[in-house]
Amino acid sequence: MVRKRIFQQLHESQNDPENPSRTLQQLPHWLQKQELTEADLPYIHDLLASGFEEWLEEVEGFPWLGGPMALVHPDGTNVVADRMREEPDDVYLAFWSEEENGPTAASRALVTCRPTLMRAEEHRLSKLKEYDSIAVPIFARTTGFPCAVVACLLPAGAAQAGDLKLLQAAALHIRSCIYRNFENLFVGGMLRERKLSKKEETRRNILFGVMRRLNDHIDVENVLSEVLDSLEQLYPVCKADLFLSQDYTSPNEKVRPLAFHLNDMDLCKAAFLDGKVREEHAEGRHRIALPLSGKQGVYGVLRLNMPESQFDEADIGFLTMLAGAAGAAFEKAKLHEQANVLVGELRLINELTHRLNSSLKLSETMQFASAELLAIFKSDFCCILQFDAGLHQFVVMSSNVAEMIGETYSKDYGFCGVMWSTKEPIILSDYCSATPVASKLMDVTGSRSLLASPLLLNGEVIGAVLIAKGEPNHFSYDNYKLLQVLSAHLGLAISNATLHAEVRRMVITDNLTGLYARHYLNERIGRKQLRDSSGSLIVVDIDHFKKINDTYGHQVGDDILIQVSQIIRTSIRDSDIAARWGGEELAIYLPLLSLEQAQRVAERIRQRVEAETKPQVTVSCGISEWRLQDDKISVETLFYKADMALYEAKHHGRNCIVVG
Ligand code: GH3
Ligand code: MG
Ligand code: MG
Repeated sequence: MVRKRIFQQLHESQNDPENPSRTLQQLPHWLQKQELTEADLPYIHDLLASGFEEWLEEVEGFPWLGGPMALVHPDGTNVVADRMREEPDDVYLAFWSEEENGPTAASRALVTCRPTLMRAEEHRLSKLKEYDSIAVPIFARTTGFPCAVVACLLPAGAAQAGDLKLLQAAALHIRSCIYRNFENLFVGGMLRERKLSKKEETRRNILFGVMRRLNDHIDVENVLSEVLDSLEQLYPVCKADLFLSQDYTSPNEKVRPLAFHLNDMDLCKAAFLDGKVREEHAEGRHRIALPLSGKQGVYGVLRLNMPESQFDEADIGFLTMLAGAAGAAFEKAKLHEQANVLVGELRLINELTHRLNSSLKLSETMQFASAELLAIFKSDFCCILQFDAGLHQFVVMSSNVAEMIGETYSKDYGFCGVMWSTKEPIILSDYCSATPVASKLMDVTGSRSLLASPLLLNGEVIGAVLIAKGEPNHFSYDNYKLLQVLSAHLGLAISNATLHAEVRRMVITDNLTGLYARHYLNERIGRKQLRDSSGSLIVVDIDHFKKINDTYGHQVGDDILIQVSQIIRTSIRDSDIAARWGGEELAIYLPLLSLEQAQRVAERIRQRVEAETKPQVTVSCGISEWRLQDDKISVETLFYKADMALYEAKHHGRNCIVVG
């Protein structure tokens, strides 16, 4: 029955067609060949005992012999010695060896290798003199040496030849019980091995699955959950925690920062530092710290805590592999994340520079940059300042804080002052009264986090950008690096816009007189004629200028031109536009002014030139006007009419004004 059950189990677990060498058909034959040898004798006491006890169970006390029985090992010990302790007065003897107790049927049977009957009187020991003893040797199946003796005591004179026959039958039965146990030893061993390899196979399959899933994930959070979930499934009794060395906040409460200062972290610390698995057995618990390492370093430690003796060596190996795979996957995900951040930053820089350069208006550029910086750094306040080289001061160009607009600061004040001297960006996690640098931006807004960078051009500070946030510890080191990059572009954009403004000013300005150039005047009059209802033009020409040049030289001639231009500039309103029209001819456009009003302006200029120039010159003026109701409104007509009037003024003896 027992054997049948074992073979059934074997059959069920034997579903490996890849390995035909151990198929079921071959197994009994193989088992049959397993045999006891004399060398096994010192180790078979338990085997004999279990075989004998099994036999006792099967025959339920063997009632047909009626005397106490024993199974004796060839060394003389009674292998079912336990039964003696249960019944201490019994005549079961611990030793059946001749040296101990004198001859018995058992000791004789061992020597003669034959069934033996010994009468009570033949025994030497007084206790045995009350019994006849009968004994039958049990032989090994194929080698034939006696591996045990089954003995029985019967009341003196009661033993008969029939009893010996019965005992012989029992001996055969006992032998088969012993051999069954002997075979079970092998089968049990094989089953154990099968079970182990089955477990190993399952583990490998799981590991493979976990690795595949780990490799599927490219975001850090998923990798971490995958590791923890797999562990929970595989080892439900064990408590798993994951400690990460880097700044990382996970929604999973089992993922925490690696805090070396905490008391219970020694094991994790050791595993983290040398990158090796560490184990600890204490207070009935088994703790394992597995480093989560990739190619570039150790990222954290996986800590397992479970009741003692839950894990064997293979489990540790398995967990080490799992931690290795998790480390590699974590590294991959982390690199992927970093690459994404970099790509995002590059895209941002690209977009920002594109937008910054698409407008050459400084104020527009600054406003755009300010809004972008607020969004990029998720901050509350921003302030961009330009360093005015003339004033030697920082001037606020753009800010979302009303109190800052239009402010100027000396180059020694606040964080701008620090950056002016160090040319380095600043990251401040908590601004408070103890901070040695005073800052209006931080004070006014009540901010505590600050990120600031100088705007540099060719190594010179041309401005600064300050970004602030109410809460402390808002900005990261990555923010700091990003602002540094962005501010380089911002500096360039500011300098471009400034240069562009300068070039534009140069293009529309006459070099010598500082008045507008002719094309700009034309442009402006053209635009005014589209919007306004009227306007007047005065053309001013210096009288006999050729003579001035001839008399005093061109240098003085130029100076006269500058003097006259200055008189014109100071004689007109801000809304009037004065320009150099040609060589020594100047023109003034007076929007919305009538001829009479223009005439008064011209008269003032004429008088001042006569009175204030040195050497003295005079000017002649021609005035024209346009109105909405005119047939033809154009810049050319306006100039033509003024020119005609000027011609007339020259004709009338110069130093006078003619209205066209
Ligand atoms: P009129 O009273 O009829 O206007 O006599 P004029 O000599 O002023 O007139 P004309 O047009 O004959 O001469 C203009 C002179 O102005 C010729 C030129 O040498 C001089 N001139 C033109 N541009 C400049 C300049 O930029 N600097 C100097 N120094 N002279 C100039
Ligand atoms: Mg002229
Ligand atoms: Mg002239």
